[in-house]
Amino acid sequence: MKDCLFCKIVAKEIPAEIVYETGRTLAFRDIDPKAPTHVLVIPKEHLADAAALAEADDGLADEVLKAAQAVAVLDQVSESGYRIVFNTGPAAGQTVFHAHAHVLGGRDLTWPPG
Ligand code: C5P
Repeated sequence: MKDCLFCKIVAKEIPAEIVYETGRTLAFRDIDPKAPTHVLVIPKEHLADAAALAEADDGLADEVLKAAQAVAVLDQVSESGYRIVFNTGPAAGQTVFHAHAHVLGGRDLTWPPG
């Protein structure tokens, strides 16, 4: 999608620190990390949010979740604990309307989130 920030990262038009990639997913470090591990996992295809991702065909949501898990293992937070978050819609704090899972870990995370 022309004006989508994350589509531009997929197209390598905007730099990002990519940590993991599959045929249909990309994972890169958040530019403004909220934890020692803060990685965004996205479908390469433009889908506006987690709801659209859930409705996508061919197991794409499954692939994003598996990529998030792979990132947690790569960043060595899978045993200590980590969080996978999809902010979905403005009231939930979504600011980039290309579906993305935040993978957060490497510190004690409080609950409930703000
Ligand atoms: O869930 P939300 O839509 O708020 O998350 C968007 C995330 O994208 C933010 O955590 C922000 O720091 C990140 N971001 C980024 N690289 C950019 C622009 C935004 O990692 N170039």
